[in-house]
Amino acid sequence: MFNELPEVETIRAALSRDIVGKKLKTVAVTTGKTVRRHKTVKDFRELAEGRTIKSIGRLGTNIIFVLDDGSRLVAELGTGGHFQRTKGPKEVKAKHTHVVITLNQGGELRFIDETSKGELFVSPPAPEDRVVEVSKYARLSVGGDGLAIRQAVPELAHLGLDVLEDQVGWDRMAAILRSSDLGVKELLLTPEIMAGLGSLYVDEILYNSGIRHDRISDSLSTIEIRRLHRGITEIIADAIKHHGSSFGPTPFADPDGKQGDFQQSLHVYAREGLPCGQCRAPIERVSVRQVTTYFCPKCQN
Ligand SMILES: [Zn+2]
Repeated sequence: MFNELPEVETIRAALSRDIVGKKLKTVAVTTGKTVRRHKTVKDFRELAEGRTIKSIGRLGTNIIFVLDDGSRLVAELGTGGHFQRTKGPKEVKAKHTHVVITLNQGGELRFIDETSKGELFVSPPAPEDRVVEVSKYARLSVGGDGLAIRQAVPELAHLGLDVLEDQVGWDRMAAILRSSDLGVKELLLTPEIMAGLGSLYVDEILYNSGIRHDRISDSLSTIEIRRLHRGITEIIADAIKHHGSSFGPTPFADPDGKQGDFQQSLHVYAREGLPCGQCRAPIERVSVRQVTTYFCPKCQN
């Protein structure tokens, strides 16, 4: 199980269809670490219990439940957290179930996280005069809900651009790339610059754009930046259409257990030694500082 933006958006959409309008009857926390921002488990429970879900949003890999008192229940899924819908307490609890929310007229919502890096917290309603300092990259956005989400949840204000919630033209993308001497993959993986992108989709985006992962950001030509900008939007939209990628020993699944199938459309990720779909050269794999990258040595330069 691993999450990037398309997987978390798939979870958000499924929950949105299913539990908006339902009330959080009881909240049971079995692992205190999961609600570590609150002083005690009881503090967290009291803020969430009895509230009704008005809508469900997302920013990066965070799912945001907007509650009826104006507060937000935020679930930072990280790379391994996910939700499971169950009919009730009789269903066997999966290993690493950290939080169980009982919904009125509608079973349970369980938060499961093998890595224990994910967390849940309640962000209180915003006072009217609050000014939230959002990240300098997010400020480049010219549309979408991203800025409003950061205003409502200051805990997420540091996050960089979200491909779906923030709108940025290729020219602003160019300004970001040209002001950085990071490798282009490293830049795209930095959550304070781009939120919700991970190694799988970045490798696919860079293949789609014909750009090598280790190119220095400010060396990209205008044409390459335009291709990269289009590649980011297209690959992420396509992956969402396919409900994310599911493979490996614990494949990604939405809260109802439904898997995605974008893994069938991958061109480079986890395809080491297999022929490139365009030029037939074997796909290569390199690891630098614990980040593994797959790429075509001929099509990407
Ligand atoms: Zn190739």
